Amino acid sequence: MGQRIVTMISEEEIKKRVAELGAEIARDYGNKNLVLVCVLKGSFVFTADLARSIDANMRIEFLGVRSYGEGTASSGVVQITQDLSRPIEGEDVLIVEDIVDTGLTIAHLLDLFRTRRPNSIKVCALLHKPARTRIQVPIDYLGFTIEDKFVVGYGLDWSEKYRNLPAISVVESGE
Ligand code: 5GP
Repeated sequence: MGQRIVTMISEEEIKKRVAELGAEIARDYGNKNLVLVCVLKGSFVFTADLARSIDANMRIEFLGVRSYGEGTASSGVVQITQDLSRPIEGEDVLIVEDIVDTGLTIAHLLDLFRTRRPNSIKVCALLHKPARTRIQVPIDYLGFTIEDKFVVGYGLDWSEKYRNLPAISVVESGE
């Protein structure tokens, strides 16, 4: 039983889109106190590239989350395994997510962060699977809309494998 890795979105396409998102974000935030929040682990590659494409002052925070109860489906119960290192009160927070699937994770994070009184809070997601939406969440900056397939690469894993693939890919099992 072999596995075939099929590219869905190439390195070049990702690079071009990330540059566009970075330019848009830099334009929108200007001189604000931008805090990029990288949601671990899946967003680490996207955040690293996005941060370097935003020509503005920022600080970068890391948030560890684990969602309970699932196979590959999110239960919506999100446990914080590593919290931000500093308060975000009065700051302009941009949550950086790898993929918005059901929307439950982002909905939970928005609720949580709003209690900390940031000046503003927005969401940047590389990928969105609208077919699986369970709760509508605002995605202020979106890389790509994709069909309902389980994707890996560019930070995304399949049982901790494939995060290092440079392209967004689909795992297909062959015989
Ligand atoms: P949501 O709460 O929106 O259902 O789930 C978001 C999280 O589920 C993502 O941050 C990601 O960790 C995981 N996830 C959802 N779809 C995929 C997928 O196609 N591939 C991978 N590797 N993870 C996914």
